Amino acid sequence: MPVETLRCPSCGAGVLSDATRCQFCRAGLATVACPFCFGMMFAGAKFCSHCGAKGDRNEVPGGEMRLCPRCKVGMKAANVGTTKLLECGTCEGIWVDVETLQDICSEREKQAAVLGMPSHPEQGVAFEEKVRYVPCPVCLQLMNRVNFAHCSRVIVDVCKAHGTWFDKDELRRTVEFIRGGGLEKARAQQLQEIKDEQKMLEATRRLNSHSDPMSYGGHNGELPTGVASTAIDLLFELLR
Ligand SMILES: [Zn+2]
Ligand SMILES: [Zn+2]
Ligand SMILES: [Zn+2]
Ligand SMILES: [Zn+2]
Repeated sequence: MPVETLRCPSCGAGVLSDATRCQFCRAGLATVACPFCFGMMFAGAKFCSHCGAKGDRNEVPGGEMRLCPRCKVGMKAANVGTTKLLECGTCEGIWVDVETLQDICSEREKQAAVLGMPSHPEQGVAFEEKVRYVPCPVCLQLMNRVNFAHCSRVIVDVCKAHGTWFDKDELRRTVEFIRGGGLEKARAQQLQEIKDEQKMLEATRRLNSHSDPMSYGGHNGELPTGVASTAIDLLFELLR
């Protein structure tokens, strides 16, 4: 997509079309407005520059005042398509409540299944250097920092009870991950880890029963009693 020059509606300075903020007067120029990929769109743009979908954003006046966990300023409520979010006009982060995030995930997963899109693992994304824990805007408890779906490399802040905080552009990256079949892969990976663990347990149990026939017939998955000798047996088994 060619980068064109636009005018800042506040100060009239020329700004690049992919800037989300005027570099002269700091006025916000773009908001999350794409109902498909949650990309940021320049004010007044009709179509998303990330995916080409038609923008659909409606600000919801009033409502409960929640503070941005990073900037501590009131967030704006907006509907992007059918998705309700709170957006901070200062840092451009987004708060999504638990139920809404579930909807986003299940809907985007359906799209992943239909489209069979290849996923693009984000290699270039650097992890934040300085980790800062931020409070949940609802209960004000510090949130957990979580690698979304354990392998997306999008680090989000989560309050299990109330919702998830996405820093600027993280919701779009998360949705891209889901649409690329990321959740499916994450589940397959977890399943494999469980299977590997079971295999290991099974091998340990077999070796243990071999060295001590009396312990054979215990419950499945039960840890053997002669742990030390079993570990040595296992080592020999692996070296053989
Ligand atoms: Zn400006
Ligand atoms: Zn889009
Ligand atoms: Zn903020
Ligand atoms: Zn909370």
